[in-house]
Amino acid sequence: MKFARYEINGTVQYGTVDGDMVTRITGEPWGGYEVSSDTESISSVKILAPTLPSKMIAIGLNYKSHLGDKTAPSVPEPFIKTPSCVVGPNDCIVLPTDSTIVQEEAELAIIFGKTCRNATKENALDYVFGYTCANDVSERDWQKNDLQWTRAKSSDTFGPIGPFIVTGLDPSNLAISARLNGETVQSSNTSDLLFDVPSIIEWVSKFITMEPGDLILTGTPGTTATLNDGDTIEIEVEGIGVLSNCVKTQ
Ligand code: MG
Repeated sequence: MKFARYEINGTVQYGTVDGDMVTRITGEPWGGYEVSSDTESISSVKILAPTLPSKMIAIGLNYKSHLGDKTAPSVPEPFIKTPSCVVGPNDCIVLPTDSTIVQEEAELAIIFGKTCRNATKENALDYVFGYTCANDVSERDWQKNDLQWTRAKSSDTFGPIGPFIVTGLDPSNLAISARLNGETVQSSNTSDLLFDVPSIIEWVSKFITMEPGDLILTGTPGTTATLNDGDTIEIEVEGIGVLSNCVKTQ
């Protein structure tokens, strides 16, 4: 199934997506909900970030093609992105003052449906509600030179997610790509993940309790491109859709 979080007439709600129509549900997709009779065309509503997570964990260096001259990590390498950097489809990524090299990172994002602590690889997928596209926007000078990755990874607008939450996907074989102004700049498949989705969930949930609506970004493949004022950056994951964002200066 496909779900959207959207705004209509000043009200924010969730709905099920069928083709180009969205039908309001009561509550959140991962809770018990009822489907209403309120159906709208997607073009008549504003699609928002599909979740407002209490926390967003991202995994670094999780595709061989993204390692460059670095050694592959022996365990998944989690870091934090703040909930405050989340934006939705069609929102602009704002290049911060004094930033020099801001780049996209196309990623598959896991959305949890249940409280998850101490999962095993065997039961990890039981905690997953669905998946969405994410852009782990990164300022490379700050990532390289700051002691912490906080501003490099969590400046305002550095966490676009969306456009939809899709359930029932096999996360081990999904095409993933990024297009900058229509030109493909990243292209890979989640089958190339160094640590697959169950392994990531097992590792992260040893230390951090994941709650419904929380996110783990699973890493990015290959090399990334530099974003400039006026650009459009699109992240696409097979079966989910296209997450499109404009880029502007502050
Ligand atoms: Mg990343």
